Formats: sequence, C-alpha cells, structure tokens
Amino acid sequence: MTILNKYSLCPNCASHTYHRTRRKGLLERILHSVFFISPYRCNTCDERYFRFRLPVHPAEKPPHHHAA
Ligand SMILES: [Zn+2]
Repeated sequence: MTILNKYSLCPNCASHTYHRTRRKGLLERILHSVFFISPYRCNTCDERYFRFRLPVHPAEKPPHHHAA
C-alpha cells in the first residue's frame, strides 16, 4: 500500500493530476477518519494510492541554544 504525503506526485508516473476516489471497506473508512488518509487515483496512469489529506510539516528542529 502506497501512502503519499499531500504534495507528492504519482508514484507510478510522477503526474500531479489526481482525483479523490471512493473509499471502500472498513479499513479505508478508518484511514480516512482516524489517520486523515484518503484513496486517490491518478488522472494519467490510473494508479490508485493513498494520500494524507493534511499537509505534512517537516520536523521542526528544536531550538538549539548552547548556553554559555
Ligand atoms: Zn500516475
């Protein structure tokens, strides 16, 4: 199962055009409501994959103050 973050391209053809597709089954409903992951389908190659609906922030660096 491929799960991409919000801004990733299609894993198969690197297209950035895709549409949300219908969720099927309990697992995908759980992914949708608990993990904010939805199934999408590529407009170009018809590959189906999962994508986070929320932006994924890069891990913030903790402030690194070296106290003198
Ligand atoms: Zn594709």
